[in-house]
Amino acid sequence: MNERVRVIGGGLAGCEAALQLASRGFQVDLYEMRPNRQTPAHRDGHLAQLVCSNSFKALGITSAHGLLKAELTLLGSYLLDCAREAAVPAGDSLTVNRDIFSELVEKKIAEFPNITLHREEVTSLEGDCPTLVAAGPLASDALADDIFKRLGSNRLHFFDAIAPVVETDSIDFDHAFYMNRWEKGETADFINCPLDKETYTEFVNKLCEAEATEPRPFEKRELFEGCLPVEEMARRGYETLRHGPMRPIGLGLGNNGHLWYAVIQLRAENKQKTLFNMVGFQTRLKWGTQKEIFTMVPALRNAKFARLGCMHRNTFIESPKFLDKTLRLRPELDCAKDIPPTWFAGQITGSEGYTEAVATGWYAAWNMAQTILHGHADPLPDESCIGSLMNRLVEENEDFQPMNFNFGLLPHHEGLKKKNKKEILAERAERAVREWIAARNMA
Ligand SMILES: Cc1cc2nc3c(=O)[nH]c(=O)nc-3n(C[C@H](O)[C@H](O)[C@H](O)COP(=O)(O)OP(=O)(O)OC[C@H]3O[C@@H](n4cnc5c(N)ncnc54)[C@H](O)[C@@H]3O)c2cc1C
Repeated sequence: MNERVRVIGGGLAGCEAALQLASRGFQVDLYEMRPNRQTPAHRDGHLAQLVCSNSFKALGITSAHGLLKAELTLLGSYLLDCAREAAVPAGDSLTVNRDIFSELVEKKIAEFPNITLHREEVTSLEGDCPTLVAAGPLASDALADDIFKRLGSNRLHFFDAIAPVVETDSIDFDHAFYMNRWEKGETADFINCPLDKETYTEFVNKLCEAEATEPRPFEKRELFEGCLPVEEMARRGYETLRHGPMRPIGLGLGNNGHLWYAVIQLRAENKQKTLFNMVGFQTRLKWGTQKEIFTMVPALRNAKFARLGCMHRNTFIESPKFLDKTLRLRPELDCAKDIPPTWFAGQITGSEGYTEAVATGWYAAWNMAQTILHGHADPLPDESCIGSLMNRLVEENEDFQPMNFNFGLLPHHEGLKKKNKKEILAERAERAVREWIAARNMA
């Protein structure tokens, strides 16, 4: 086959995508700007470089990342194979020697004669063949400017602090209640977690003393006033949080007949309301410290965090506005008219995490191949990890923020008991993917 495609970015998503496209016979031009042009976080010119931790997280299928990896294995992910080969002992997690991992990916790429690796920066989406953009959260300025100019959208959350997300069924409702501030709206959508004076005082003191992660050089710039990390607010004064994200007014009275002393509000993160985020609690505290401090809140004593807060530069597009469920830039949009058919993958889509980058790389490449070869895309079922992650990426969301895959994204059904929930959802996801594969004779 002589069909040419272009992949921008030789990171996790781009390498998986290039390999998938090459294995289906496409002539792939893979562009990686390093080592000629570096990002602030990568270290050298290696492909598929893990910028921070060296772990792809848990393996067991009743953990979210374990299930996602099991799905990617069924689907024939090349990068997961390399990760397994580069694994180092780390209990029930897939943790790798990052240099060996990169070398294995580079070897795999070199084994495909139909992949041409260009060590060049791409600065525009213009081109003469279908394109898959996987330039990551640290996409070069020129390319990011071109993308955001075309989309007519501001660069999103360039230096971004994100707030933790809690699994709803881990919240203790003996100490929490549903209510919107001033009872506005038709349904009570917010979960409120009150603190008494003593707990608030201890909470603020802990936040003031807590250790934050060391900011990387590119984070050492002024913080946005409207998006201050919660520990920074606490340091500005004892009352700051009570006048900010923990203000108790408009939320009724406590058991003593007076206003609650302080309240943390949680806002639904997904339509199913299986996940809630801590409103205004963006933070860059160390993850262990976050858990220790946030579980001081009575309603969150046993909280399970689907995502913890963090702060880093994070360029991503507003996927709900621009992408369809197959990660293609919606062809009916004006911005898609003067460029070749374009797909996005990796962190730039608003998916968060290494395994998710590999998963979106696989998925965008699969749909790109199906569209070019057969004229239509071929999404994965909603019950699968990747299918449910896609729904999260493209469902309407005014405050779209990056997210990891987690069990809260899988469609839940009535009568799903808390006890075996994960086993049931995991089994259903695996079955859905096996059937999907069998129907396509892909095994
Ligand atoms: C500082 C930081 C730390 C992170 N730590 C973790 C972590 O510990 N665990 C985790 O699961 N996730 C982490 N993430 C989130 C995310 O999982 C990783 O960023 C992941 O590498 C994303 O994969 P990707 O393929 O989308 O992007 P990347 O792996 O970053 O790949 C993008 C590639 O595109 C190249 N590129 C960029 N612009 C151009 C251009 N114009 N032309 C050609 N090439 C270009 C880059 O050099 C890079 O190689 C972190 C993110 C950041 C920013």
